[in-house]
Order: sequence, then structure tokens, then C-alpha cells
Amino acid sequence: MAVLSDEDLPFDAKMLDRLAEVSIRVGLDLQPGQDLIITAPVESLPLVRRLAAEAYRNGAEVVTTMLSDDEVSLARFRHASDESLDRSADWVFEGMARAFDNNTARLAISGANPLLLSGQDPARVARAGKSMSIAAKPAMERITNFTTNWNIVSYPGLEWAKQVFPGKEDDEAVAALAEAIFSISRVDNDDPIAAWAAHQETLTKRQGWLNDQDFQSLHYTAPGTDLTIGLADDHEWKGGSSTSKNGITCTPNIPTEEVFTTPHAQRVEGTVRATKPLVHQGTLIDGIEVRFEGGRIVEARADEGEEVFLRLLDTDEGARRIGEVALVPNSSPISSSGLLFYNTLYDENASCHIALGQCYSKCFRGGIGKDPEAVAKAGGNSSNIHVDWMIGSGELDIDGISKGGDRTPVMRKGEWAYE
Ligand code: ZN
Ligand code: ZN
Repeated sequence: MAVLSDEDLPFDAKMLDRLAEVSIRVGLDLQPGQDLIITAPVESLPLVRRLAAEAYRNGAEVVTTMLSDDEVSLARFRHASDESLDRSADWVFEGMARAFDNNTARLAISGANPLLLSGQDPARVARAGKSMSIAAKPAMERITNFTTNWNIVSYPGLEWAKQVFPGKEDDEAVAALAEAIFSISRVDNDDPIAAWAAHQETLTKRQGWLNDQDFQSLHYTAPGTDLTIGLADDHEWKGGSSTSKNGITCTPNIPTEEVFTTPHAQRVEGTVRATKPLVHQGTLIDGIEVRFEGGRIVEARADEGEEVFLRLLDTDEGARRIGEVALVPNSSPISSSGLLFYNTLYDENASCHIALGQCYSKCFRGGIGKDPEAVAKAGGNSSNIHVDWMIGSGELDIDGISKGGDRTPVMRKGEWAYE
């Protein structure tokens, strides 16, 4: 895939200016004197160039860009030995971790082919995935713990676009995906910064209501689902913006529609059926059904990609427990688009979801989040993975259950019951 100049883009290049502005000013709230690390697919250079320019205009000192390429990624799976897949470039992540400790902001562009690895041997994909998550841990920990301000935005890559719009010609598919990204990322208006401020206000109200309720657990019912999720002790609901430990308030995900908190890793009971496919490491996993006992997944199946899903659950002990519970109304712009994006950043924001693996330590009251032992004691899960999957739909009802056992409707038919 060649890198296109502005005139050759099948969409309005002005939208990339706005996306760059929202990413740097709202997503990162990049501060003068900060360094910035950008990782991006090579195809997204038209956006990366704008991001670098916008970063420097906002006072960035050193912007470092790391580009990736699908063909280079595939070359490893085609030609490298099995044993070599047990190693990843740990020095990159150690360097990133050091940079994050020194106030460097982090920006990731998604937009590569989401099913790149679907034709590869699942055992090799899992092996490389495991060594990657171990190598990436020093950097990932600092992202999930908000050591620094970070942001992820998307670029309409061709292979991704063809996956979302399989019936369209190349340029039409990219144009359609671009339109969806710009609309859902709230940059298709004259004042995207104000649009994001209004959106944040809505998310803040929802968190406030949930925090006031202080539920002990949530009970989910839908076709194939009868699930009780205990919430962690002293959990706190978050959504939209987050203040990182360097004191900067960033909005990490663009788009974002969710409010979320930390469930109790030992207090999840019952069955749940996924409502959308999950794309994990380039493989589509569809029709997931699992049963929890004492917080642990004790039975699991999938109609498609089952082998990859079961291997994922065996990554480590925490991979069979959940670390996030998130509420998104079924009427969210992503769900309304009716599209399956094959990209968690989009699909997770279409619908209520839970995540296997690592919890967000910031979703606790008081100083609990600063102490890993206190997080574990309050019920926070720990794992090398964090994988979101969708369980929301127009048929989902959720009740909040108080410490005294009272039930309050939280969602009815996938929509907020209290609004
Ligand atoms: Zn989430
Ligand atoms: Zn998540």
C-alpha cells in the first residue's frame, strides 16, 4: 500500500487536520515541553505528519515516530522459527517505559488490517502473542496505570476498510470508513473541541449516578445471558477523560462512549453470550459463550476461532477472570452505524462489554490504586492480557444490586434506565 499524498486521498483531507487537533489537544492534552512517542501503520502517514506538526505547535520537544507494516509483520509468521517466537523486542518497551517515567506522552494510531494473522497457525500466533505481552508489560503497565497521558485514534486503512465494507471498491471502502471514523470521532463538525466537551459532560453525569448508587453487583439478563458481576470493593466508575499521574487530563480513547469500573475478580457467577465477534491478534472469534464460577471461567466455547479463544484463556491465571465492566447504551453512534469494525476501539464502544484480564487500578476510591496489594485485596484482577468483548444488545437488561439486596434498573433493552 503506497502512502498517498493529500490530493489522492479518497476523503476530505481537512478531516485529518481536525482529527490531529482533537487527538493532540483533547486526546493527549499535550503540554509544552513534553516528548511524544507515536506508533502507527505506515499507511497512516498523512495523519502522522499532521499529528507531529500539531504536537510541535503545542510545544512538544521531541516527537518520535515508529511505523509498522503488515507485510513486515507477516514475514515473521511466514519465515521465522517456532522457537524465535518466544522472544520479542523487549528493549523497545523498556525504552518506552523509561520515556513514560520521564513525562513522554504516548499516541497510537490504529488502522492496520484487523485480520492480518487469520491465515496463520494459531499456535504460532499465540506463542508470539504471549512473548509480545510479556515484553510489552513494562510499557503496558504504565499505560493502564496512567503514568503518562496517552491517546489512541484511527486512520482509515485500505485493508481494514475492505473488511468493514466488503462489497465496495477500494476507494469507496476507504471513503466510507473515513466517513464513519470522522463522524464517530466527532470531528465532522466545525468545532470538534466543543463537541468533545459536551460529550464529556454526558459521560461525567453517568459516572456520577453510578458512583452515587455504589452498587455491590450488576445482574445482566439477555438471550443466552444470566450473569451476576460483583464489583470490586471501593470501586469507582470512570469514563471519557482521565487524569494521569503526571497531572495531565487526557481522553485516551477516541472514540469513547463507555463508563467503566473494576469488577471483583472472585465474584462473577453465571453464563454470558457475546453479542459481537471479537478480533484477537488477527483472528475472528465469534459466538463466544462462557460460564463463570467464583469469578473464574470454568466453561468456554466459541462457534469460530475457538482454539485461539481457549489459548487466550490459558495465557495466565488472570486471563480466566475479568478486569473491566463497561456500560454503553445500544443507541451509541457506533451501534447506530450498524457496522462491525473488527477493531476493539470501535466495537467496544458500540456496546456493553467486559474484559478478560488486567484491571484498571485507577477505578478505585482513595489511595487503593497506588498499591498493587490493596488492588488485589479489593478484588482487582491482574494478568498480562486485557481483552474486551461485547455482551450488550437491544435485548439486554441490567439491574444494580445494593449491599442490602435492593434492585435498581440500570439498563432496559440496552438503554440507560434512569436518564
Ligand atoms: Zn472498555
Ligand atoms: Zn477494556
